[in-house]
Amino acid sequence: AMEERLQKVIAQSGYTSRRKAEELIQQGKVTVNGEVVTVLGTKVTKKDTICVNGKIINKEDKVYYLFYKPEKCVCTMSDEHDRTCVADYFSDSNERVYPVGRLDYDTTGALFMTNDGEFANLIMHPSSHLEKVYEVSVKGLLTKAEKNQLERGIYLEGVKTLPCEIAITGNDEEHGTTMLMIRLVEGKNRQIKKMFEEVGHPVKRLRRIMIGPIDLKGLTPGTYRRLKPKEVNVLR
Ligand code: URA
Repeated sequence: AMEERLQKVIAQSGYTSRRKAEELIQQGKVTVNGEVVTVLGTKVTKKDTICVNGKIINKEDKVYYLFYKPEKCVCTMSDEHDRTCVADYFSDSNERVYPVGRLDYDTTGALFMTNDGEFANLIMHPSSHLEKVYEVSVKGLLTKAEKNQLERGIYLEGVKTLPCEIAITGNDEEHGTTMLMIRLVEGKNRQIKKMFEEVGHPVKRLRRIMIGPIDLKGLTPGTYRRLKPKEVNVLR
């Protein structure tokens, strides 16, 4: 992200003149990300939150991305074990974007990234009932009875899952694997893994291929694109 001098950014916000901005900085009235800064010429970027007398002066533009999360990547901004984080893929972007919900470390696929907290909360709220489609490989051959049971809903920790749709797309008899697609309108922690574990078919691979009407077309693991305003509006 592009760096600029603090007093210039304050002046360009329309808050005051550059001359006055310098005075405010020296008087300790300016904070950057919550810390008082008194050094003139301190370099800041659009990602930093600048307050003058406690008021935010630089509102960053809202941005929305569709990210193809690769394997071996955590849905956090930093990791104490030094694993790759989703944030690492966005270090060149001008905005500080956060993942909308979580995919597991070994799960791949569609993940929204945004700096719009309101949008993120809306999408993540259980009442949104936003449809998500996953491609799944599970251990063993899933019977019709097990499929029906999962579709109707099963109890996970005492709470019944909402009805979902499952389409079996392949059976690999040699490796004892069933390939399938599952369409859900909820997303509790590790829900798909728990559901299939519950019926004795642990998940081997998991990829989210759709969120609402948005699919992964044109993306490869580790890449992203901006959502179009139209796409954002359909989601909210
Ligand atoms: N369900 C899971 O079990 N894991 C994910 O990452 C997403 C859905």
